[in-house]
Amino acid sequence: MTTQRPARRNHSYAKAVFLLITAFIVIQAAEEPEVRVKSLFESQKFRTATEFLRSDHARFVQELITLTEIPAPPLKEQARAKAYLEMLSVNGLSDVEMDAEGNVMGLRKGSGGGPMLAVLAHLDTVFPEGTDVNVKRTGTKLAAPGVGDDTRALAVVLHILRAMAAAKFQTVSDILFVGDVGEEGEGDLRGVKYLLTKGKYKDRVKQLIAVDSSEQMRISAAGIGTKRYRVSFLGPGGHSYLAFGLVNPAFAMGNAIAKMARLKVTDQPKTTFNVGVLSGGTSVNSIPAKVSMDVDLRSESKDELNKLVDRFHSILHEAVVEENEARSTKQGAIVVETKLISDRPTGETPHDSALVRSAAAVIQAFGHEPVYGALSTDANIPMNIGIPAIAIARGGKGGRQHSLDEWVDVEENSSVEAAQILMLTILAAAAASGQ
Ligand SMILES: [Zn+2]
Repeated sequence: MTTQRPARRNHSYAKAVFLLITAFIVIQAAEEPEVRVKSLFESQKFRTATEFLRSDHARFVQELITLTEIPAPPLKEQARAKAYLEMLSVNGLSDVEMDAEGNVMGLRKGSGGGPMLAVLAHLDTVFPEGTDVNVKRTGTKLAAPGVGDDTRALAVVLHILRAMAAAKFQTVSDILFVGDVGEEGEGDLRGVKYLLTKGKYKDRVKQLIAVDSSEQMRISAAGIGTKRYRVSFLGPGGHSYLAFGLVNPAFAMGNAIAKMARLKVTDQPKTTFNVGVLSGGTSVNSIPAKVSMDVDLRSESKDELNKLVDRFHSILHEAVVEENEARSTKQGAIVVETKLISDRPTGETPHDSALVRSAAAVIQAFGHEPVYGALSTDANIPMNIGIPAIAIARGGKGGRQHSLDEWVDVEENSSVEAAQILMLTILAAAAASGQ
């Protein structure tokens, strides 16, 4: 009994101290991203890095041109990957390597103890082999297929690596810089999927930044869900005149496309559909035996995407039935084959996560307001498996991405500011100190 009182007093004293410390830690943690960004923004190291970015601008532009002119068609990124591997290794990274999927990467070591940050820019473009990728320069504008998406990101990453080294920035977290394969189209995010689920860093990457947006102030903390299908309509085929009256897969597909064109989808959450590639048939005077189309369905909402997918499958079925009723099936009926060629899951990173707050604080430090949105990028995969991830701008003005007349503006002031914003976001996420 006698020993109980002092023990209890000690206990409540310890408890009070513990609570005070906890409260202090919670308050510190709550302030941390914004406080860190502010101190980095005001640091001498940041001024040194900015001076360096200006002096290095011409080299950045030259490397952007060099990389753009190395073709990187879907599933054929090897030549550009090898060149980028070389560029990563001369910019001070360690453990530079290509993984089994074809991603190239290198590590910028931190002092230890922080969650590893992966920074991704994708190597692949949407343009097929044989596309003219020579860069045409007019003033500060560069035009070439792929010059923005995502080659500018590959080049700006090298640029900020040099600036971080020049200013001797030290981070707590290790930063893994990756030029990844297979972001676009049929690549189906194969590079980032391999990196996070099979590669040697698979359980070590704890936060991820995809440098893959054309909008400077946008933080994409949500991933758009995408499903893509290759749909083939098959029939008996025949002579256009002699076999007239037989079912025709082209009519079935045309009917399906017309039905899709009349689909109603929601603006909020944004939901979209597209028929992007059409092919089939062998000659003008033959009823085709096969025609195909590639269809892209997307939504910010998993439920809306599922509804759209269901409606799409119904339409295909209706179109087949209607064609088989409209014409003769005596030589065989129309059938449809559907193959899922791409499946990008939806996901989200909470706006109050340290990563999103850091990115927002950086944009605010430059006097702008962040805009939150959703994109379909490499960041979808980590978001979907619970790793905090965002997609942010590669910087600079530009337009017409995914078209042959894609362009970017490499005007120095806006390019340097974009590089500063990206660099600070990476540094804040990797817990750099300005001291
Ligand atoms: Zn991209």
